Amino acid sequence: MDNRRAAQLVASRCAFRTRSCSSALGELPRLMGETGSVIAMDVGGSAIKGALIDVHGRTTAVVRRPTERVQGPDAVVERILATAVELRDQLGEGARAAGVAVPGFVDQIAGVARSASNIGWHEVPLRAMLEERLGIPVVLGHDGRAGGLAEGLLGGARGFRDYFFLSIGTGIGGAMVLGGRSYQGRDGFAGEIGHVVVRPDGPRCRCGARGCLEAIASAGAIADRYATVTGDPAATAELVVERAYAGDADAEAIWRDAVEALAAALAAYTVLLAPEAIVIGGGLALAGDALFSPLARSLARKLTLRPAPQLVAAELGDEAGCLGAGLSAWLALGVSEHELRWNGAA
Ligand SMILES: [Zn+2]
Repeated sequence: MDNRRAAQLVASRCAFRTRSCSSALGELPRLMGETGSVIAMDVGGSAIKGALIDVHGRTTAVVRRPTERVQGPDAVVERILATAVELRDQLGEGARAAGVAVPGFVDQIAGVARSASNIGWHEVPLRAMLEERLGIPVVLGHDGRAGGLAEGLLGGARGFRDYFFLSIGTGIGGAMVLGGRSYQGRDGFAGEIGHVVVRPDGPRCRCGARGCLEAIASAGAIADRYATVTGDPAATAELVVERAYAGDADAEAIWRDAVEALAAALAAYTVLLAPEAIVIGGGLALAGDALFSPLARSLARKLTLRPAPQLVAAELGDEAGCLGAGLSAWLALGVSEHELRWNGAA
């Protein structure tokens, strides 16, 4: 479906559907009880993950299929819609709502996927399209913010009200949680720490700017920079970290630069927003102490005015986005955060 047809669909919808999802959901009576399940989906550049999650966190009907972005954004949208319908059909009347997390820039208030470089879509009114197809309320969210929500209720950020969820993978993403609430900014762009310029004369970023954090410290950038210096295109970021600690001078210089860049960006975040913790996930977080120890030291050195926030490892791995999508659907149905702490965390 192209964007114009999608926009026509939105325009033809009834008043209920033109209101924001959360306000419409807030008016739903809770007389139905918390039976049934929500559809939870996490759309990534390589895979679409989906599941049905009941109010106690029991997960069924887990699906994982390739995004197949090479077929173009319209085909990806169609795969998302088809996967959601498939999940709904397993529940029938028991499908209460759906939470769908997508990458890139997402305006969750408007329900629009603004853009995503790894999928190539622009201005897709995905919430309206999903509600049209599913016939139930839908929460459209950002994958990083969904992950941050799940880490807050179920994972490494449990107990924190003010934290930043930093995801370091092929790219670098982030989610700001302020006073216990996810913050998306005016139009869904908040938290994009990967595009904070930390080296004004640094390498070119895919966003067009120079010296962005992502162009220096993402797993993709670390592997690329190492390949450029050494001519070894096969080394992953994980291998570069390993070699850095094994005495490879090129790997050591690239890794030190990445850690310093991360510390610079996190120091700026800390000075501005004074978080209690920085929760770090994504593939590179699996480096463990090799990342956390030098990053904590560098961050402490840069923060002369105040103590550094705790650095905490994320706990939910690549399940965070899907769990967060399900949690956001239950929250929108009026279930409290307390009821959604499925692992009994305080
Ligand atoms: Zn950038």
